[in-house]
Amino acid sequence: MNRFLLPLVLIALVSLACSLTSTATPTAEIPPVETAAPPPIPIEAAAEATVSSGKAVLLFTIGMHIEPMGETAQGYKSGKGDYHQPPFFQRQVQDILVVTQIVEAHGGRMTIQAQSPFTSVAIESGNTLLADLAARGHEIALHFHEDAHLGKKPESLSVQQWCAVMKQEIALIQQASGVSIIRYWSGGNLYVDVYEAAECAGLDVNSDWKNPRLQETPLEFVGVNPWRPAGGTDGVDLSAFTQHDPNGAIIFLPEGQYDKTNFASMRRSNAAGGDEAYFEYLKQSLYASLAAADAGKVNVFHFTVHPGEFRGDPQTPFGVIEKFLTEVVDPLIASGQVQWATFSQMADAFAAWEQASPSVAPR
Ligand SMILES: [Zn+2]
Repeated sequence: MNRFLLPLVLIALVSLACSLTSTATPTAEIPPVETAAPPPIPIEAAAEATVSSGKAVLLFTIGMHIEPMGETAQGYKSGKGDYHQPPFFQRQVQDILVVTQIVEAHGGRMTIQAQSPFTSVAIESGNTLLADLAARGHEIALHFHEDAHLGKKPESLSVQQWCAVMKQEIALIQQASGVSIIRYWSGGNLYVDVYEAAECAGLDVNSDWKNPRLQETPLEFVGVNPWRPAGGTDGVDLSAFTQHDPNGAIIFLPEGQYDKTNFASMRRSNAAGGDEAYFEYLKQSLYASLAAADAGKVNVFHFTVHPGEFRGDPQTPFGVIEKFLTEVVDPLIASGQVQWATFSQMADAFAAWEQASPSVAPR
């Protein structure tokens, strides 16, 4: 792919940006979505730029975790809301649409991570959100809350039991989205055999490691360069996880150059200053990640949102995300320092880099 085409593609994407639908009132219907799908981001350009331009490029996206609200496909109940309640489901569908449209207007695509009961309710009610997002170039993936699908002591279960239930959840995602290949998952973080289970279920890309009990991420796991962990972790022994295994089946995408262990949960803390302060911290972390980016390696930065999170002022829903993309991300895209890439596109760029630089340590 000729990388000089990329600015033209981005201009085309920006000009396709549609006006955002107000979310002031939850409605029972999904608003009409652009039918002319913008072209997907040409990721070969990202891999090429990273490997051959001599200039460090940071691949960037925003991931979304759709949580297990209500009774899951395996019969466990969890969460504060319930997707089986149509107004709740529709409100979250609306929120997901608005956020993805904001990201699209900036030329980006997200990795949307779902699980039951969101997927099963979408199938039962004929909701096409996940299929629509996939058609518009977003990656559809798995967010796996182990206790919501495997019960109270998931770490005591076998790889086969994990694999079977992961496959069950993936099948629901495939049915709800029409996407046949699901590669990325988040979750299952304290199960030492999670990588064997995920490989068995056909997954090969992972990130967002956070200790669900402490809501913290060890600083050993942060940074900008992906690697293939030699194994999982129980949250105490980090040695296999932090060790690179060139033959490892799973590519791990660290979140970036964060300097706090609670970066994944501080968004929920009003004491930390609320949404504005959180996005200020994201900006500092993005700049730190750019400084840490290596022209000879694949570099990534991403953060996570949940449906409805950062909704803010109803007059300008999700204004804090729009502002961050406009003021912080867009200039870096324009200068070529940052490129949008979904998680699987980041992993593909890493795999291409591995082929091109077999003797270089990934991190
Ligand atoms: Zn979650």
